Amino acid sequence: MAEVSPRAVASGIARDLQSSGHVAWFAGGCVRDELLGLQPKDYDVATSAHPEDVVHVFPRAHAVGAAFGVMLVRRHGITVEVATFREEGTYSDHRRPDDVRFSDARSDAQRRDFTINGLFRDPVTGEVHDFVNGRADLEAGILRAIGDADARLNEDHLRMLRAVRFVATLGVTLEPQTQTAIKRHASQLTGVSRERIGDEIRRTLACPGRVRGAELLESLGLAEAALGSPARPGPWLRLERVGHDGSQLPALMAAWAADRGMEVKHFDALVDTFRDRLLLTNVEQRGMRACLTVHETLRQWRDLAVAPQKRLASIAWFSAGMDLFSVTDPDAAAVVQRDIETLAKTGLSPRRLLDGHDLKQLGLVEGPALGQLLEAVYDAQLEGRVQSRGDAEDLARRLASGC
Ligand code: ATP
Ligand code: MG
Repeated sequence: MAEVSPRAVASGIARDLQSSGHVAWFAGGCVRDELLGLQPKDYDVATSAHPEDVVHVFPRAHAVGAAFGVMLVRRHGITVEVATFREEGTYSDHRRPDDVRFSDARSDAQRRDFTINGLFRDPVTGEVHDFVNGRADLEAGILRAIGDADARLNEDHLRMLRAVRFVATLGVTLEPQTQTAIKRHASQLTGVSRERIGDEIRRTLACPGRVRGAELLESLGLAEAALGSPARPGPWLRLERVGHDGSQLPALMAAWAADRGMEVKHFDALVDTFRDRLLLTNVEQRGMRACLTVHETLRQWRDLAVAPQKRLASIAWFSAGMDLFSVTDPDAAAVVQRDIETLAKTGLSPRRLLDGHDLKQLGLVEGPALGQLLEAVYDAQLEGRVQSRGDAEDLARRLASGC
């Protein structure tokens, strides 16, 4: 069966609602992205149909947060959000409205965050419906809050980080009043969940415009609010250098921290801060710690023996750590690179001549001492002091007997 695109599915859903007499349009980010010639991440449909009407047209639709009038319709394995046009009440928690009222497209546009996100498009006719002057801002590359910037950013503090992300990902410019309002409310970001903060910051760091994003996070006071410490603002040399494809989030976090002038020497504490503030996953924590370990340890490269040099060069994230290091000390990095080429001739991480199982069979030691013995034998192997399994067993026996 031919694959059906998310756009075709969303468009079919809108068409079916229209056939039942409702207004149903693409809304928000997907309209913005299509007008910019970008591939939307998801397609959302906004409609005059109330939830019970949506269920009438799509009997298997189900509600998410029924009070907000959002229904999920699934077709061909693709789920589309179908939301009833609505206006929102007050925001006492600065994140979600206390109540919503179903309304029309014009007032639904008003509740959205930025003018370029407030557009609708009829997927059947292609006509764009613009109640907020979003099209002109899109053409001029301006990110402007809808309505009173100060009030809109105060309603929902997450919008401040969304603004930075849109600047970084779309290359738009912040309109001055929107910018002033963000500065005014930046310190209140702490009320937003760490998960949402982490999510927006990840997306900002992962995009090619990350340096612009980092600059703005700093100048608006959002980085300080998110991480709990002020910084030296740039230059963002490491952030420019690492993770070009955006797939290396731990390296990007490490680069961001180092460029901010945070205490990268104390990487355990630093990673803990990032974990607590941005809810890093275990994999992200390990990656960030590895990048910072490499970055720091490379300063003493010349003082390391061959075995620790080979071990360092073999750890995951070594090349990202090298990228970080080479930004501030390109000459030393070139030396490391040359040394590694030489070390590689005798194997950076050869298969162990003896593993834990072998050592147990030899019956030399038990418990934690076994691990130490194993590593000591491997160090000798990395340094060429033992070359065969027989050599390795001899060394293990000598070490175990203390001579
Ligand atoms: P992307 O999908 O690339 O993250 P988006 O703008 O589509 O960007 P979504 O989270 O998919 O973001 O939201 C869809 C639309 O819902 C937005 O374009 C905007 O109109 C509205 N919206 C989302 N979050 C908010 C918010 N916090 N405040 C006001 N409107 C919002
Ligand atoms: Mg979207």
